[in-house]
Amino acid sequence: MGGFCGVISKEDCVTDLFFGTDYHSHLGTHRGGMAILGPGGFQRSIHNIQNAPFRSKFEHDVCRFSGPVGIGVISDTDPQPLVMFTKFGSFAIVTVGHIENVEELKQELFQNNSMQLQYSTTSGMVGPTEVISALIATQPSLVEGVKYVQSKVRGSCSLLLLDDSGRLYAARDRWGRTPVILGKKGNAMMALMESCAFANLGYDYVRDLGPGEVVELTPEADITLVEPGPRMAICAFLWVYYGYPASSYEGRNVEMTRYRCGSALAKRTPTEADAACGIPDSGTSHALGYAHEAGMKFARPFVKYTPTWARSFMPQEQREREHVASMKLLTIPGLIKNRRLVFCDDSIVRGTQLGKQAAKLYSEGCLETHMRIACPPLVYPCRFINFSRSRSVYDLITRRYIRGREGENADVAKYTDPDGEPYKQMVEFIREKLNLTTLAFQRLEDLVKAIGLPQDCLCTYCWTGRDVSLEGCEGCPCGKCKV
Ligand code: SF4
Repeated sequence: MGGFCGVISKEDCVTDLFFGTDYHSHLGTHRGGMAILGPGGFQRSIHNIQNAPFRSKFEHDVCRFSGPVGIGVISDTDPQPLVMFTKFGSFAIVTVGHIENVEELKQELFQNNSMQLQYSTTSGMVGPTEVISALIATQPSLVEGVKYVQSKVRGSCSLLLLDDSGRLYAARDRWGRTPVILGKKGNAMMALMESCAFANLGYDYVRDLGPGEVVELTPEADITLVEPGPRMAICAFLWVYYGYPASSYEGRNVEMTRYRCGSALAKRTPTEADAACGIPDSGTSHALGYAHEAGMKFARPFVKYTPTWARSFMPQEQREREHVASMKLLTIPGLIKNRRLVFCDDSIVRGTQLGKQAAKLYSEGCLETHMRIACPPLVYPCRFINFSRSRSVYDLITRRYIRGREGENADVAKYTDPDGEPYKQMVEFIREKLNLTTLAFQRLEDLVKAIGLPQDCLCTYCWTGRDVSLEGCEGCPCGKCKV
């Protein structure tokens, strides 16, 4: 997905920017970048972080950079930040999100502005950040440009923009699918996506931007330039899987939400077992909630070997990724043999990994493997935040099952009703395929309750197929958006 951090200060901002950006490393695996505006103009550096962590790649740059304002990014798409030269002067920009209609926007640029875009990604494609920058430059001002981008993008695009006079802007995507959060320390302000970065850098949480809101940050304050939009649909998967445990979005902490998810699973689908266990990493927090609620022992029959397998080492090929994932996971045989275990995991995508893990457990003498999944079955691939690497909808085990049963034109929606027969048969198929003793998925209402925001403020598309951007702006109950 990717993440970003921007800092503006009355003093040098480089150390805060470096560590603030680094705290987003779990969100992306492709490129890292920083741009700082110093006395001599923009200083910028971009590195490949596929084989080494952000921190080790940037520690030399940090020594030579200086300035009071800067932006940094962990990118899963194109190399960033870009520095653009436009009629507004130059500006540095980073973006995070997924632009579903990027081709359409490129054509608009070519047709209306005769603009020559460069190849800015390693794959020889025009990168999304470049398209966004060029679109911004078509408008009368930078802020009008950001507003225009939000009105045109299908998907999502949150961004930080730093102009050559030192103005720092932060914009959250139109439907607020990704978080953008503000923090303050003395005479410095920070905007980022993972609020866990604030505490160790001495920043206090200020607030989350509203959906589509654009602010200018000064060292003392934030000034809203574009008011929040009418409806928020923040990604519910942040809490289930990819958000960092110490972070909070919209005031809801990730780790505590995962405990509540596990607890809800234990209440709704209890089982007799000798211990509750998690599939690392995020499954561990769900399992702690399960164990606590069920009054069951918690155990770690799987541990992850991380010293030489940095999160950022993530091969592009699915087969290689699966190989790396299975090499990282180690078992503790004494916690497995002759035991009945209930496992929590965040989700099932292809099912390949879980099937292998179940086989490993049985080969080590596990008697029963009960699997509890912290979210409902994934039935619709994400279209909004560049979350999935799936090339096809049929990467999802659910969709392969549905296609096998009804062909390509099946009514998929009926497989999302947990009380319906099609759903129950699909879950039974997955259970059998992965050779699990029992399998149960979280109900959507339990997940929503665990997060603690109204359902209408959450994106739940990958489980329900419900896209709020097609529903209009009526009735958002969160009290945050301006209905
Ligand atoms: S479709 Fe799923 S992963 Fe994508 S933004 Fe919505 S909830 Fe998040």
